Order: sequence, then C-alpha cells, then structure tokens
Amino acid sequence: MRKRILTGERPTGSLHLGNYVGTLANRVKLQDQYETFLLVADYHMLTTRLENLVEIRDNIRSVVLDNLSVGVDPEKVTFFLQSAVPEIPQLHLYFSMLVSVPRVERIPTLKDQLRDHDLAEPTYGLLGYPILQAADILSVKGNLVPVGRDQESHVELTREIARRFNQLFGEVLPVPEAFIPEVKLLPGTDGKAKMGKSLGNAISLAEDPASLKAKVMGMYTDPSRIRPTDPGTVEGNPVFMYHDTFNGNTDEVNDLKERYRAGKVGDVEVKRKLLAALEAFLEPVRERRAKYAALPGYVDEIIAEGSKRARAEAAKTLHDVRAAMRLDYLGL
Ligand code: ATP
Ligand code: MG
Repeated sequence: MRKRILTGERPTGSLHLGNYVGTLANRVKLQDQYETFLLVADYHMLTTRLENLVEIRDNIRSVVLDNLSVGVDPEKVTFFLQSAVPEIPQLHLYFSMLVSVPRVERIPTLKDQLRDHDLAEPTYGLLGYPILQAADILSVKGNLVPVGRDQESHVELTREIARRFNQLFGEVLPVPEAFIPEVKLLPGTDGKAKMGKSLGNAISLAEDPASLKAKVMGMYTDPSRIRPTDPGTVEGNPVFMYHDTFNGNTDEVNDLKERYRAGKVGDVEVKRKLLAALEAFLEPVRERRAKYAALPGYVDEIIAEGSKRARAEAAKTLHDVRAAMRLDYLGL
C-alpha cells in the first residue's frame, strides 16, 4: 500500500508564495509517490476568525483553486473539507485526554497567534488547535505531513499523541513524520519573519500584474540603506530571499547581490528584476487557475467527492480507535 500524505490549509484567504514554498511545492512533487489527502481546515479557521465567516465559502473554493493552479492534480489527490468529516472532532476528543494543558501551552505557535491576532488570552479552542490537527492527520492514518516550518511543533505533538495512544491501547496509529523544506519561512513583503494569509503582508498566487508590481516595488528592504551608493545588506533581506527562491537565473542574482553589497545597484533595479522573475512564475499559475475556475461546479464536486472518501477512511480509523479503547460496546 502506498504511504499517505495529509496536509492542508485554513480557508482564511488566497494562498500565497509562502504557502507555495512551505508546502504546495512539496505536495506537487510527492503526489505521484504518496496517496495524498488535502484538508481544507475550516474548523481551524474558527480559532482566529470567528468574526468574518461570510467569506468562508469563497475562501474554501479559492484554496482548492490555488492548489490546482500550482499543479496539484485533482485526479491524484483527495481534497476534503474538515467539517464534512465529523469523525475528526470525535478523535479530537479522545486525543485531548492524552495531552496535558501545560504541554499545549508551551507550543510556540500559541504565542505567535496571540500576538498576530491581537488576543489577550486563548480560547479553549485555540489552545486545543494542535490536538485537532493531530486528529486531522491521524484520521486518515497519514504517514507524511508536508508543512511549513511554523507547523513543525504541531507534527511533533501528533507524534507524541500517536505514541501515547499506541502505548496505552495497542498499535493502531502510525507515527507520522513532518516534511519541512530546508529553507526558512518566506518573510512577508513588510519584512516580518512570516508571510501569512491573515497578516496583510502576502503576495497571492492569484495576484494580478498591477498589484504584484505595487507590492514588489513597495517591499521592505534594507532599512539602513538610504542612497543606491550605500553598501546594502543581502542576508535576511526579503527582496533577496525572494530572488533566491523564485529567480532561477543565479548569475543574475549573484551579480545583484555583489553590486548591492558594494553600493553599486539601486533597490529599484533589484526589485524590477524580482518582479520579472515573479511574473514568469505566476503567469502560468494564473492561467491554470482560470482554466479550472471556468468549469462550473467543478471545485464543489471534487470537494464533495473527496470528503466522502476521506470520511470513509476516518470512519475506519475511528472504529479502530474505539475498539482499541474498548468503547465499542454498542458495536459503534
Ligand atoms: P494564516 O495567517 O491564516 O494562519 P497562513 O498563511 O499561515 O494563514 P496556513 O493555512 O496557516 O497559512 O498554513 C498553510 C501551510 O503553509 C502550512 O503548512 C504552513 O506551514 C505553510 N506556510 C504558511 N506561511 C508560510 C511561510 N511564510 N513560509 C513557508 N511556509 C508557510
Ligand atoms: Mg497559519
């Protein structure tokens, strides 16, 4: 049997270049080798987005289109909606008995979420979010989890939960591995360490040429550099991090870096060349997206079918889990 991938994202807005480098690129690369389940995590969205639910329908559709636009093959992968699989919250309840409160309080993303979303304290739901993620992964018995670096600690918790469960009740759950890119998180256009859908600092995969241009030309760069003749810093400079990731012309990138350090090139030229590289990357992405978007009902159909498949797998897992725990006395 082929090993399984489980990965996905929250339907909180258009997927962006950071999502691409962090996980989409890997799932495209691995989709032939692994049986892939792609989760649209609408419950996870509730942890920080309770006010703005009117956009959810559009966002669900758009997250799927974004995946298709970068080459995820709908014939090969199973897209599914988290809330269409009620076995997931049921597993979450069982798993929540295996994790202490201080353990989830120590997960580093909690502090980031509180800061980014301006929250004084976490809800019970936000605190338990990584446990719900364990239920996502283990519901389809995922073996590999391609995610960005920010999610590493969540996969670690999933591993602990699987081990603990197996120790207590017998070998039922796989202990999944995270698959994380070597490169750092992609920074935002504002220079913040992480580009994020909900952070207002993202370049979307569907960005149109005019707004792409505005975003690139307005990007945060070396703040201590005032004139083009000032020597500039390349390391940690988001403009150069984007060049490293999206500009395949390494000679050009190296030449720009050398001249930047020596104060022999202006930010405008460096950004113009980045714009050209990003245009070349995004043009075919936009085209593929438009092709799928033009098929009426197509996205809804693949979500509905995929959710049925994923639900059948989750029901099997839930059955195994309940049987192992001796909770199946009614045969359920
Ligand atoms: P939000 O701001 O709403 O949390 P997000 O941009 O962080 O959105 P998620 O849906 O939370 O996106 O995450 C989807 C996937 O993209 C995860 O695997 C995450 O690790 C990865 N990811 C998100 N942002 C980045 C980034 N800047 N660089 C690399 N990977 C990223
Ligand atoms: Mg996130």
